Amino acid sequence: MPTTPLPNLRAASSGIARDINRRVVLNLIRSRQPISRAGVARLSGLQRSTVSLITEQLIGERWVIEGATGRLPRGRRPTFLRLNDRRAIIGIDIRPIQTTVALADVNGHFITQEAMATPADPQTAVDQFITRLRHLLDSHPQMMFEGIGISLPGRFDFQSQRLVFAPNLKWPEFDLKTPIERATGLDVALENAANACVLAEVWFGQTQGVRDLVVVTVSEGIGTGILMNAQLARGLTGMAGEFGHVPLDPAGPVCTCGGRGCWEVFASNRAALRYYLESTSQAGGPSFQDLLVLAEQGDSRAAKALDTMAHYLGRGMRMIVAGLAPEMIVVVGELTRSWHRFGPVIESEVSAQVLAGPAPRVVPAQDGAVARLRGTVALVFQKHFGASVPV
Ligand SMILES: [Zn+2]
Repeated sequence: MPTTPLPNLRAASSGIARDINRRVVLNLIRSRQPISRAGVARLSGLQRSTVSLITEQLIGERWVIEGATGRLPRGRRPTFLRLNDRRAIIGIDIRPIQTTVALADVNGHFITQEAMATPADPQTAVDQFITRLRHLLDSHPQMMFEGIGISLPGRFDFQSQRLVFAPNLKWPEFDLKTPIERATGLDVALENAANACVLAEVWFGQTQGVRDLVVVTVSEGIGTGILMNAQLARGLTGMAGEFGHVPLDPAGPVCTCGGRGCWEVFASNRAALRYYLESTSQAGGPSFQDLLVLAEQGDSRAAKALDTMAHYLGRGMRMIVAGLAPEMIVVVGELTRSWHRFGPVIESEVSAQVLAGPAPRVVPAQDGAVARLRGTVALVFQKHFGASVPV
């Protein structure tokens, strides 16, 4: 086997350093804008000349623009930098029942978003997405579109660029990327929803400095995204993070994956609805949102169903804590709207089983309703600013 010559290794290393510095600078401008070049240098610890070089690149690529001039008591007035909010990203969050298509600026602010029923087959979905995407592009001629991020309720294999495991969506293996790229002329980045939420936490969340983090997405199923040592863990064929399909009770109810008694069978939104329906003779079922409202209105059966779900969520998280020892677990999903109900139960279940050391913080995602959509925006960021994350 040929050995890699050392000069190439050096080139790769400096390339990685440049990549990291670019991300550091962009992220500082994003989080502290408006900020001067001197401010970026001070906060990043990078040399002024490095910051100037990277800034000129980012301005040339129109990620960053120069804004108002700052005021100092004397001397040269610094020019402030901010992200170019005419640069836009399109996000598509595919869930088994509903899909949201949204337009966001580079600050992660959503300009428009619309929901549609998720088609039963991927070909119809692609056709419908393309119609909506063309309309979105045509109706915002002033924006510069950077790319499309798609989050999926299943695992995505980076090698084959295909969706490989989506038991709740029930789509066959399919290439979503090529037809959408061809129709729009934009790059498409796809990722499992929980992994996308990890990236959203890193880019837009309050997790700066956290290198070991697990996101748990709770909806029709349960997904987890794992950040270990500041790197997203994908595993073989993108399948890392399927804690939702680890059986808690092999004699439990049948799961969409074909197994029995998986964690998500006991702790997903669907599980709470099952607990509720088991306790009532009412015909027709409420939605999970209805269940949250019913519980707030004092419906004791709804409250009990959610409490059971919360216990199972916490119990399942013990696997994550024992196996990965994250510093933080971020929960994404409609349940975060009733965090006062879920949070304490989950935390007590988790802390009851910590083997040694402190229990991880379990926190709801900021603005849980759009957390998954933010993940789609973060995917496009990630594509431009490298494979590891800025922490
Ligand atoms: Zn399963």
